[in-house]
Amino acid sequence: MRAALVDNNGQILERRDADISPNSMVSQLAELAAQLRSASNSVSALGIAIPGLVNRQNDRVISARDLPPTLVENLHEELTRATGLRVEIENDANAEAYGEFKAGAGVGARNLFYMMIGKGIGGAIILEGRLWTGASGFAGEVGHITIDTEGLECVCGNTGCLETVASAPSIVRRARERLNRDSTSSLSRLGLRKDFTAADVAHAANEGDDFALMMIERTGKYIGTGVATVINLLNIERIVLGGDVMDAGPLILNPIIQEVKRRAFLRCFEATEIVAAKLGADAAPIGVALLARDASA
Ligand SMILES: [Zn+2]
Repeated sequence: MRAALVDNNGQILERRDADISPNSMVSQLAELAAQLRSASNSVSALGIAIPGLVNRQNDRVISARDLPPTLVENLHEELTRATGLRVEIENDANAEAYGEFKAGAGVGARNLFYMMIGKGIGGAIILEGRLWTGASGFAGEVGHITIDTEGLECVCGNTGCLETVASAPSIVRRARERLNRDSTSSLSRLGLRKDFTAADVAHAANEGDDFALMMIERTGKYIGTGVATVINLLNIERIVLGGDVMDAGPLILNPIIQEVKRRAFLRCFEATEIVAAKLGADAAPIGVALLARDASA
């Protein structure tokens, strides 16, 4: 986990990285917060971004990937007690969106949609300068837009979600399937490594490997299809794309933009800027700190 002391302008003043053990998470988080607080005497709030669903109306974590339910159930209450600070817990995609909005690729926009493409696919909506979380806190789940009605089952229970074809694990699965099916496909660099990752595919594409390049381009088409839906729905000013899968750079951003242009309503497409996120792994700590600050305003 990554912890940071963030100032009012969204600049990181101090940071700590630590491995968190699920069994003692609250005490470890409290200890990290205490260490960071020692560098400033004006800390007003503690923000926690987690990969999961959070109901901000009652501060309950509904579910969290990779964390036991018993542990996150009372996270808000336990952290408030352990730190004495006002605590805000937020979904990681929402936190990243707010970070990019305030201090990254979203600066200057009033309305934006943020999409995080990594292990899963998340999204967040900022309307008129505020995070819009929907009726119960879960708006922006763009990873679960249906892309293929005949597609594979998704973790959400639906089939053919964007996440089943364009998340990092899905890129690896599709590459494997194709390599198994078509012996003429060459993934010369990756073929040598049995346990290759989506980052390896992106790296090979950047080195000019044809097969890897095709896999990245197709991933871009899927993401672009999802983005086109968002643009048609919201006529949004800016789309910011983040997450590990976007580390492929222009190799993935260009096919995304091409596909959006092909599929979106032209007038909406023309009004939208589609850009890569700027803050990388700092987006979540910066965003959740500013959300925690602004929640009290
Ligand atoms: Zn789904």
